[in-house]
Amino acid sequence: MTDQQETQPPTTLPAHLRNPVTRAMVRVQNRIVRAAREHLTAQGFTELRPPIIGPVTDPGGRGSKQIDIDFYGHRYKLMTSAILYKQASLLAFDKIFCVAPNVRLEPLETANTSRHLVEFHQLDVEIAGASRNDAMNVAQDIVATAAAAVVADLEDELAVLGRDPQAFAALLKEDAPFDRMTHADAVAGLSRLGHPQNPDAEIDWEGEALLSVRADRPFFITDYPKGSRGFYDRENPERPGVLTNFDLIAPEGYGELISGSEREHDYARIVARMRETGENPAKYAWYLDMVRGGIPASSGFGIGLERLTRYIAGLDAVWQATAFPKTPGVVSA
Ligand code: AMP
Ligand code: MG
Repeated sequence: MTDQQETQPPTTLPAHLRNPVTRAMVRVQNRIVRAAREHLTAQGFTELRPPIIGPVTDPGGRGSKQIDIDFYGHRYKLMTSAILYKQASLLAFDKIFCVAPNVRLEPLETANTSRHLVEFHQLDVEIAGASRNDAMNVAQDIVATAAAAVVADLEDELAVLGRDPQAFAALLKEDAPFDRMTHADAVAGLSRLGHPQNPDAEIDWEGEALLSVRADRPFFITDYPKGSRGFYDRENPERPGVLTNFDLIAPEGYGELISGSEREHDYARIVARMRETGENPAKYAWYLDMVRGGIPASSGFGIGLERLTRYIAGLDAVWQATAFPKTPGVVSA
């Protein structure tokens, strides 16, 4: 990855689609999805296709706006994530995954992060009865399995992309768990690097890049503060204000790949957390009716497919990791 990152998508879609880099990227992405599907299916996961519209969706995005549509006179949303339907899916199966599109009107400031698309996909996993640790292990396995498959099978594509397979030497050599640091450790580390980070908020883009650049394998940040996430990340009962959640950060400056957590599943807790996060519980009628009837405790996570593709393919910007890029504020195909 270069320091000087390209942030604008190519002028025309045909030029992007004819670019050998795009073709190599698509093959890498296909291999990533196939590796994840095969791995999860072998572990007993069932793949579902979640809806793309509904009366409510994940409110958890960092400052992004939802897109409304007119559903026969009712205001519906395009899905910003599959979280509500992932919890619902556990009524049918204990271990589920999906690969689904999400749409978020990201703030214009994110147009230059090289990490934000308006339309992207998540490879989403949810596991009934699982701890955060169980979910982190599954997340690590998917990233390692996908990188190994690309390195083993797509030497020519990596050459077209200029991606040195040695970039994954540390990831593929050690069988050890990825390093873990708490959000509080990350804040302290950033302060030592001269980067002031608000201890009550998400790690900012610049801070995340500083930590990411220093790593040679992906690593986890755990225990984010309550104000930084949606109502569904479970609050640690022994440490009020701290969430039992995690992000997986890619090395080399590529930044966040995954967010996940243990989930709130108790009706009263969910309603309380909705109120605390400024959500109106009345809007979540179908979801809260379901929760009142009982949903399993669970843990899960979402992998940004284009973010993972960007890291594995070694691309400068995330718009290069999709055949049909839509970046914040840019009117395009
Ligand atoms: P979140 O729950 O908001 O953390 O989203 C889950 C994952 O989706 C993130 O860890 C990213 O990998 C990916 N993601 C979120 N927002 C975007 C975006 N605007 N563009 C591309 N990928 C995204
Ligand atoms: Mg996140």
